[in-house]
Amino acid sequence: MIDFRSDTVTQPSPYMREAMAKAPVGDDVYGDDPTVNELEAWTAQRHGFEAALFTSSGTQANLLGILAHCQRGDEYLCGQQAHNYKYEAGGAAILGSVQPQPIENNPDGTLCFEKLAAAIKPDDIHFAQTKLLSLENTIGGKVLPLEYLAKARKFVDQHDLLLHLDGARVYNAAVALNVDITEISQHFDSMTICLSKGLGAPIGSLLLGSKAYIERARRLRKMVGGGMRQAGILAAAGKIALTENIERLADDHANAHYLAQQLGQLDGFNTADFPTQTNIVYANVDRKIDLTAIATHLKSQGILFSPSYHPMRLVTHLNVTREDIDTFIKALKQQL
Ligand SMILES: *Cc1c(COP(=O)(O)O)cnc(C)c1O
Repeated sequence: MIDFRSDTVTQPSPYMREAMAKAPVGDDVYGDDPTVNELEAWTAQRHGFEAALFTSSGTQANLLGILAHCQRGDEYLCGQQAHNYKYEAGGAAILGSVQPQPIENNPDGTLCFEKLAAAIKPDDIHFAQTKLLSLENTIGGKVLPLEYLAKARKFVDQHDLLLHLDGARVYNAAVALNVDITEISQHFDSMTICLSKGLGAPIGSLLLGSKAYIERARRLRKMVGGGMRQAGILAAAGKIALTENIERLADDHANAHYLAQQLGQLDGFNTADFPTQTNIVYANVDRKIDLTAIATHLKSQGILFSPSYHPMRLVTHLNVTREDIDTFIKALKQQL
């Protein structure tokens, strides 16, 4: 199968599976799993935080991340397109009684500071209490500029807010900018990392922050049923994801550029409006083209993409090669 639906579809490599099989494990709810403990300690240190927490998913890491910052009746500022607003089933509101205050994202994925400032609630009994600004990087494949992150830090300091990063794909941002990850992470009070997307682990995310914050998150993780037992089998894969699979993200980005360029040459596909920054390619597709029918047909040839996105969205990852892209373009051409 050639699968462009998401970078979540990556298969663990034989090397990763071997490390998983050999990982020393214990009961992580008792704090006894040496492989989880090592991953959490290493990740915290590597990214400049005091502590880290291994979670079952990015959604869970964001949920715990927001709930460990905010009390019932508090609110967090975020983008209208933010994953932790739009795509996480309203978890922070439902499970934490934390109200989101979304702001329309600028075309580059940033949030306008004037609009954010206007949305901060005054200290008044009528209002929820604004506690947190949550950013996302990359967002829709777009990289937030480093200068913007520095300004966001200044903004939250001025307004006495905390700053969270949904960094599901933060390594795609670091690789695209060609900077060390700490150039990004240094600005945030808390940050998540997805191990199971472009980094190629089968399961798992991390939440990073201060020691006290991670202790609160650990209690919340137990509450939502996220306390895992011999989780070192997964943490072993996560460690390899973070040590072996970072630099190769540049290949995914180069492949995405190539895919955008090839796709943009086909009649009815416009990729020019969506400059590719990382591993996600977008295209406006002529309405006369029946993408659903094409997706069904290509599936029978072992090629998967999601026809339901507008614009069309294709994702490159470690199981997509340049030859796979050529195969896809050729198969697509035959359907036009
Ligand atoms: C995928 C994703 C998540 C959630 O991760 P899951 O592991 O799928 O729950 C959170 N934020 C962003 C930006 C994502 O892309």
